[in-house]
Amino acid sequence: MPKKQFKTESKKLLDMMINSIYTHKEIFLREIISNASDAIDKLYFRSLTDDSVSLSKEDYEIRIKSDKSERTLTIIDNGCGMTKEELEKNLGTIAKSGSYDFKNNADNENKEQVDIIGQFGVGFYSAFMVSDKIVVESRAYGSQDAYRWTSTGADGYTIDSCDKDSTGTVITIHLKEDTNDENYSTYLEEYKIKELIKKYSDYIRYPIKMLTEHERLKEGSKDEYEKISEDEILNSMIPIWKKDPSEVKDEEYAQFYQEKFYDYEAPLKVIRQKAEGMTDYTALMFIPSHAPIDYYSRDYEKGLQLYSSGVLIMDKCKDLLPDYFSFVRGLVDSSDLSLNISREMLQQDRQLKAIAKAIEKKISSELLKMLENDRENYEKFYRSFGTQLKWGIYSDYGSHKEQLQDLIMFTSSNENKLVTLKEYVEHMKDEQKKIYYAAGDSIEKISLLPQVESVTAHGYEVLYLTEDIDEFALQVLHTYMDKEFLNVCKDELDLSTDEEKEKLKTENEKSSEMLSFIKESLDGAVTAVHLTNTLQNHAVCLSSEGMLSVEMEKTLNKSAGNESHMKAEIVLEINANHPIKEKLMDLFKNDKEKLKKYSKILYAQARLISGLSVENPSEVSELICNIMIES
Ligand code: ADP
Repeated sequence: MPKKQFKTESKKLLDMMINSIYTHKEIFLREIISNASDAIDKLYFRSLTDDSVSLSKEDYEIRIKSDKSERTLTIIDNGCGMTKEELEKNLGTIAKSGSYDFKNNADNENKEQVDIIGQFGVGFYSAFMVSDKIVVESRAYGSQDAYRWTSTGADGYTIDSCDKDSTGTVITIHLKEDTNDENYSTYLEEYKIKELIKKYSDYIRYPIKMLTEHERLKEGSKDEYEKISEDEILNSMIPIWKKDPSEVKDEEYAQFYQEKFYDYEAPLKVIRQKAEGMTDYTALMFIPSHAPIDYYSRDYEKGLQLYSSGVLIMDKCKDLLPDYFSFVRGLVDSSDLSLNISREMLQQDRQLKAIAKAIEKKISSELLKMLENDRENYEKFYRSFGTQLKWGIYSDYGSHKEQLQDLIMFTSSNENKLVTLKEYVEHMKDEQKKIYYAAGDSIEKISLLPQVESVTAHGYEVLYLTEDIDEFALQVLHTYMDKEFLNVCKDELDLSTDEEKEKLKTENEKSSEMLSFIKESLDGAVTAVHLTNTLQNHAVCLSSEGMLSVEMEKTLNKSAGNESHMKAEIVLEINANHPIKEKLMDLFKNDKEKLKKYSKILYAQARLISGLSVENPSEVSELICNIMIES
């Protein structure tokens, strides 16, 4: 067959592999072995429902052969094999899964790419780091024909028929010639192969066999030795989650996680749970140190892998994780689940529900522990996944709020640090009754809001809410430790003394005609105009009445487009202690036309301060210009 070219992305990846200066080239063996193990899994899985697969569990194996004279390393499996089309599709095109993330990273700096290579499954092509020719002979399960895929690298590949008497795949890697810097021959050495398999592939559940030579005493002799060749199993075959945790190093968990879940960073936290009793299971879970690219998109699928006694039965079991913990990756292995169970049945499974419940509890308690004992990492976690926790509070009518309320944090006006609600309450002053918060686009903008300035000037802490979900979550919470939440831009602040309140009331009454006139001048843009005594230096600000705050209106409009009928009831507040008030009173008596214009300008100012756009910018601009000309 004529040579075929690789698909573009594959070629890019391939080029990188061929020219790799990566120091951990040895990971190629791990990649090839893990593919072999996956292929056996597929056939094994099939054998559970298909009696025509005549192999039994003990028959499956991966075999390694090294040939020093040919400089070849061969990896043989008796898994599902590949058809001609599959050879073309799988090895001619970059595969989805692991390589997907890689592709997304592929335009970064070269240096970074090189680091990424060792970190997660880049798959089959990694063999080109050590090889200048790879031959894959494969016979798919159920097929009589076998095919040979050959490639010497970037110039493409060929596929021809070949002979192969059993199902499975044989991959022959022709090692590159040694150079001054690289000793490729080392991969032909028995000790090296053993070392690599212990290091990277120990937990593979099928035996990785190799014919090894050792000496033993000749039978009947006391001092004469003979060399014998014997099959040796190089891996312990115990999955990492079945090992005693004290025997597993952090790096091993990290490596397992990165390979399995295609992450280029180690996890932030490893959670292990072994339960015995009603349902026996082991769970090994990870909290990633960053959100996957698609985490906040519809494409992201939550779920844990589900194993039945070490055999994978479902890749993403959604029912095992609540949405608010959807960032957790990992697996559950239970000997109590039936292997042949269908997906539908699984969803109904009582045992599965019990496991899910216990897992959820465990995750909650581990996160709390992390919050208490490892603040730095918790904040890192929270910056990636905090939004999800807040959604959790809001969702299902607040039915999970008890469980989640201690895990959420907000930036506080005290040094702009993240605080939990518990910490906020601990900081509260004796006379302070409510938990103050303000919402806006950014910390900077919120901290400059007039109302925030006045609350902090009284020495109270304010929580800064910058995400769309924040205020909705707090509304669902309603209280925390019996303290109500109070939006300083919406709800009535109770910062004044009775005397001050009385004074303000009288002033409002005295100015009521003027205030109504201003309201009229604004043509229905606001529901009320009040004098306020809480502002420090600002002349005006906006607040709102009713259920919706200005920020909530913004959020609702964003999600519903501009069609939303949800409107906050906006109030224009005028600083009773500001010289502008006298000016307005004066105009009300002497120049109503001008007061109309000033009202519009003041309202525009208040909108800008609240981070809202001005509805009629050219009109406002013209008004300001005219004032400039007049003065
Ligand atoms: P990934 O393993 O991330 O999917 P690879 O590049 O390692 O990507 O492999 C591409 C695909 O080739 C695999 O998904 C699998 O379908 C197929 N494949 C690779 N090695 C084997 C094998 N030994 N037996 C059967 N199929 C294989």
